[in-house]
Amino acid sequence: MNILIMGPAGAGKGTMSDLILKEYDIPHISTGDMLRENVRNNTELGKMAKTYMEAGKLVPDDVINAMVEDRLQQPDCQKGYLLDGFPRTLVQAEEFKKIAEKIGKPVESVIALEVDFDQLVDRITGRRICPKCGAIYHIRNHAPKTEGICDECGAELTQRKDDTVEQLKVRMDEYEKSTKPVIDFFEPLGVVSHINAGQAKDIVFAEVKAALEK
Ligand code: AMP
Repeated sequence: MNILIMGPAGAGKGTMSDLILKEYDIPHISTGDMLRENVRNNTELGKMAKTYMEAGKLVPDDVINAMVEDRLQQPDCQKGYLLDGFPRTLVQAEEFKKIAEKIGKPVESVIALEVDFDQLVDRITGRRICPKCGAIYHIRNHAPKTEGICDECGAELTQRKDDTVEQLKVRMDEYEKSTKPVIDFFEPLGVVSHINAGQAKDIVFAEVKAALEK
């Protein structure tokens, strides 16, 4: 199954991706995670991407396209992929469509998660992540058993540097400007499903599953 999951920061892309992966044996390819790993390892790519990321700005298209093209050729993508956070601009979408067709893995389903801005503010400012195992929490809606500590691995939870209201506004503007046209680009292919992601997690996932099985 070849899937794209799209939505603004805080729409639940990470949470829905985890649930999708339990049903389909495909790799989760998050460009944000790949970039953060490069930043952590202080690679050339990471050093370049860091300034854009901390400002909530998009990393240049050619860098991202090359990174994704390389990733899609890895053996674990034989059965398909779940791409999360890519493509984010029209240029990326056009290039991705060509790459995906060239390697025989055209996109089959685009899941577009939609949530109101106020709800996103609550989700983003309350989000805490485990830097060690990647588990995601929320200080009210999905609190860890011990405040500030990961239930899974015991590491101290952190807040992403870009998870502030100011950065959310920048990322939201960027999303409206750059990513909405991406959804419009895929629309004529008949693969896009619009999901109201402001609902409870189980309901959202039921709708996502129905869309994937369509
Ligand atoms: P995310 O975790 O998807 O919210 O991504 C975090 C940050 O990584 C974004 O704010 C961008 O700076 C960068 N990033 C992730 N994916 C892309 C992409 N497809 N194109 C450009 N920049 C990206």
